[in-house]
Amino acid sequence: MSARSENGLRALPSVNRILESPQSKELVQAYSHNAIVSLARDQLQEARTAIVSGGVSPSLEQLVEAISRRARDLWRPRPSPVINATGVIVHTNLGRAPLSEEATRAVVDVAVGYADLEMDLTSGGRGGRDAAMRSLVCQLTGAESAIAVNNNAAALHLALTTLAKDREVVVSRGEAVEIGGGVRIPEVLGQSGARLVEVGTTNRTYIADFEDAITENTAALLRVHTSNFTVSGFTSMPTIEDMVDLGRRRGVPVFHNIGSGCLLDTSQFGLTPEPMPQASISAGADLVFFSGDKLLGGPQAGIIAGGEELIRLISRHPLARAVRIDKMTMAALTATLVHYVKEEALDKVPVWRMVSMPLGDIEARASAWLLKIGNRGEIIDGRSTVGGGSLPGETLATKLLALSTPQGSSADALAAQLRTGDPPVVGRIDEDRLLLDPRTVLPEQDEELTRAVARALGEGTS
Ligand SMILES: *Cc1c(COP(=O)(O)O)cnc(C)c1O
Repeated sequence: MSARSENGLRALPSVNRILESPQSKELVQAYSHNAIVSLARDQLQEARTAIVSGGVSPSLEQLVEAISRRARDLWRPRPSPVINATGVIVHTNLGRAPLSEEATRAVVDVAVGYADLEMDLTSGGRGGRDAAMRSLVCQLTGAESAIAVNNNAAALHLALTTLAKDREVVVSRGEAVEIGGGVRIPEVLGQSGARLVEVGTTNRTYIADFEDAITENTAALLRVHTSNFTVSGFTSMPTIEDMVDLGRRRGVPVFHNIGSGCLLDTSQFGLTPEPMPQASISAGADLVFFSGDKLLGGPQAGIIAGGEELIRLISRHPLARAVRIDKMTMAALTATLVHYVKEEALDKVPVWRMVSMPLGDIEARASAWLLKIGNRGEIIDGRSTVGGGSLPGETLATKLLALSTPQGSSADALAAQLRTGDPPVVGRIDEDRLLLDPRTVLPEQDEELTRAVARALGEGTS
């Protein structure tokens, strides 16, 4: 070791010295003695390693500052809020659907105290935790019954384990794929103990292919909405009605995994029609599967809607207990569903407010942002996406604020600065420019956003 390194190591303060500084005392107050001692040790170890490989010895102030940063970073609630300016509405990495005000309030109300989750307040006896959600889903989809579990992957796993274990499930080769959320249909089937029978080809499958594959061991015919890609050109798939017809004739149930849980017609916004649960139920599907936190606009959940008898079997399987949802999710889910009953989803459910936001409103916000940040950018045309395994390739016309990259900086550096700011702002980069899309930014976040951007642009130029 060089003499310089040895001197550097000797210059490092002890843990006790660090703890004696006034700022450390505040940290001990805010967290705990043991917590800060442990961070101080880690920080000193890191400093020693750096010194031995030629680095300089940090000052006491620098060490304490680093410990403080570490504590803040490690012990803030996670996940913590970010502003989504990416223009991707259902952004899986950013927690998918934001909840409505009413759904948020419902979560907080039951979180802070007790709730009638499993008590029937009229009789004082045990009540079903699913009852209210079930009646809402039935009303909205026309299904006889429903169950909600942790997510759609769990819903598929639970239903197939209950109804298809050690039996065969027939799927088109074009749909035995990896879909939203990294769910692989062959793996879900395998995990459930069901055997996948693939029929047809990647681009074309006929009803006769399904019919030929049915044996006495067939548990179900499964349709999967290929929600994150499209196959175009020479393609063919039987309709869900054709499959229901075949299923009825041969006594085999038809399951439809539609993914997004879109209860409103997307074609009114110029988008391709997304499969809707009520349409599948009315076509006669025996079970329909969808997520709670995609275009439904609620909390993470997986909903199975369908026939009473099948749902009863699924609900009674021991696995149902392992994948059930908690009181907070149930509260958010029912509050979200009520928006659809009241026909106010376009106004109240954030994902639908974003999908239906008029271009003029988006442009007005982008212009207001531009003004607030001292005109350091320009407004350009762009496209927002629905995302999250819904409407693949479908985009909505939008207006974007394209930020001017400060001299000597880069779009990547600016993006990183915004991501690590407070609050973090996530945009997207195109052609070496950082773009911010007002569509996915909640209107009440406009001010925070412009402040964060002004700060980042300011720092970039200094
Ligand atoms: C998103 C998606 C899933 C996975 O749903 P999670 O709720 O994320 O588990 C499954 N199937 C389809 C078709 C999807 O789009």
